[in-house]
Amino acid sequence: MGCIFCNIAEKKLPAKIIFEDEHVVAFEDINPQAPVHILIIPKKHISTILDLKEEDNNLVAHIVKIANKIANDKGIAQRGFRVVTNCNPESGQSVYHIHFHVLGGRHMHWPPG
Ligand code: AMP
Repeated sequence: MGCIFCNIAEKKLPAKIIFEDEHVVAFEDINPQAPVHILIIPKKHISTILDLKEEDNNLVAHIVKIANKIANDKGIAQRGFRVVTNCNPESGQSVYHIHFHVLGGRHMHWPPG
């Protein structure tokens, strides 16, 4: 079956895509944990943030920029939002293609569970 997020990036699996460019795709999480819950993925397959290389520095910076754009577009930037990436089993990572959750639209608790 391959990687579920590669399949979304390649349009082999449906997703509610809200933003796409040469490097990334952003789509609605299928199981939202907040009124706004978007996932940003690189088109390039990278399993975990531990696998990021020096050459990916610009990609990560770009993802943060897109997270800010999404927060602004969704109207949650000034209220507050959270950008989360999970790494490996104890964090709860369930899809091994890096993704950055953009969460907002409700009060976020700290520490996270
Ligand atoms: P994580 O647990 O950090 O690896 O996050 C994986 C996220 O991917 C979860 O929030 C899931 O709800 C979400 N997810 C899994 N499959 C899909 C899919 N086909 N479309 C959209 N989101 C998905």
